Amino acid sequence: MSELLSPKDMVSSGLCIGCGACVAQSCSSNASMQWDKQGFLKPRGDTAWYRQKSATFTQTCPFSPAAKNEDFFAAELFSDARQRMATIGSFQKAYVGHVAEEDFRMQGSSGGMVTWVAAELMRKGLIDGVAHVVGVDNPQEKGRYFQYRISRTEAQVREGAKSRYYPIEMSQILNTIREVPGRYAVIGIPCFIKAINLLRQENTLFRERIQYTLGLFCGHMKSARFVESFAWQMGVPVSDIQKVEYRYKDPNRPANWYNAMLTLDDGRVVNRDWWHLNDGDWGAGYFMNNACNYCDDVVAETADVAFGDAWVEPYSSDGRGTNVVIARSALMQQLIDKAIEEGHLNLTEVDGKFVEQTQAAGFRQRREGLAYRLTWPKNGIQPRKRVVPDATTLTKQRKRIYQMRYFISTWSNRIFVLARKFNSPQIYLWFARTATAVYHSLAYHGGKWSEMKKRFGELKR
Ligand SMILES: Cc1cc2nc3c(=O)[nH]c(=O)nc-3n(C[C@H](O)[C@H](O)[C@H](O)COP(=O)(O)OP(=O)(O)OC[C@H]3O[C@@H](n4cnc5c(N)ncnc54)[C@H](O)[C@@H]3O)c2cc1C
Ligand code: SF4
Ligand code: SF4
Repeated sequence: MSELLSPKDMVSSGLCIGCGACVAQSCSSNASMQWDKQGFLKPRGDTAWYRQKSATFTQTCPFSPAAKNEDFFAAELFSDARQRMATIGSFQKAYVGHVAEEDFRMQGSSGGMVTWVAAELMRKGLIDGVAHVVGVDNPQEKGRYFQYRISRTEAQVREGAKSRYYPIEMSQILNTIREVPGRYAVIGIPCFIKAINLLRQENTLFRERIQYTLGLFCGHMKSARFVESFAWQMGVPVSDIQKVEYRYKDPNRPANWYNAMLTLDDGRVVNRDWWHLNDGDWGAGYFMNNACNYCDDVVAETADVAFGDAWVEPYSSDGRGTNVVIARSALMQQLIDKAIEEGHLNLTEVDGKFVEQTQAAGFRQRREGLAYRLTWPKNGIQPRKRVVPDATTLTKQRKRIYQMRYFISTWSNRIFVLARKFNSPQIYLWFARTATAVYHSLAYHGGKWSEMKKRFGELKR
């Protein structure tokens, strides 16, 4: 192995995604995941632990350049896969559709498939618990709106439906899995599932107990400040928020018209379309974790089964929500095919190219964009990716878009710190209005100055 690394090396190099795997493996009683000032979860602990360089850490941090990559796990876990594509990984079958049974679809962010598969594993007696992300009671007291939890009944699993674009970490559920014998499934974004697989390589107990992984496709991770920005723009106090819904589902509106909804402690509900928020264009990269700039797995290539939204027509206009599903393991494929036959799932088989098209923007950012970003100078640990650095094949316009997205992701986090410090939302909101106007002119109008002015005028209204 090359250089040994410590948690501090990853954090100070801007490569920590906040999964909590290092904390879960720590013997130090004061190591824990804590909020940083930008609203991300990061490992903290006594200096001896935080700065300790070790082979175990170097092999199990998902962003460590010495950790096994997604191709290694695909070959190891899915050697019998019928198909393989460089973009979407190894798989048996891929599908588009939704759950037909009960109200899984209406309760889910997309077609309800993630919750259905987790519930089905439990109903079939294949697992004793599911680690997934749920809303917390008393969020103001607990200092967070969402966290990982192990659900042990079908009802609990179903309570957790919906996507949370919010920092979460796995140290506590990993401790529970270590302490309480049983068979578990873990639901997670691609880098978290990679962390689970790295842990399973190192540790027999995790290998025996974590029997299934359910992956979510992922665009990027946002900081906790996104919720505060919702509150600022909807004119309600952050301290009154009791419940956050990132994608309120309205079957009468297109699925890709995201609507953010906040429930306040007096029971009042406020909501706004993302498109009408200064920072609501997902593609602009507001509040992105810096590590996401160096990620090359869009579709959870190391998970037994992976799920996303079908972002192509006619599905994106269907407000009830539609999944794309990639069954990578034979068991997941059999479980899904049987449920289709029995009428529980309304899924149609599609080819890998179709799945790739549903995530076209994500693949541009994580292939072409990543290749370009890898040519930029970077301090600290250098990430090792499957994408070859390349600044020669992109047009000038594409380069400007990637530069602007990187600028927005970095500066939205920093300016928000400033706006909070001076208790002045206007500082951040002015930044976001201007940055979005420039981003839109580049991304949608080829960088025309007149369009930039027009967009800026529209955003001011
Ligand atoms: C940060 C993030 C980025 C995403 N980016 C994309 C994208 O670019 N393209 C795309 O097609 N899809 C993306 N998704 C996935 C998408 O939002 C849906 O989660 C997915 O389509 C499944 O919908 P569903 O209706 O089947 O799931 P549901 O039935 O709603 O169930 C969702 C399950 O996931 C769990 N969960 C929610 N949030 C998290 C989290 N942060 N970490 C771990 N588990 C969680 C819930 O507890 C629940 O069990 C993203 C999800 C997240 C969390
Ligand atoms: S990415 Fe995960 S394992 Fe690596 S330093 Fe951050 S919290 Fe620890
Ligand atoms: S973009 Fe990659 S690194 Fe960022 S949260 Fe998603 S899977 Fe993790």
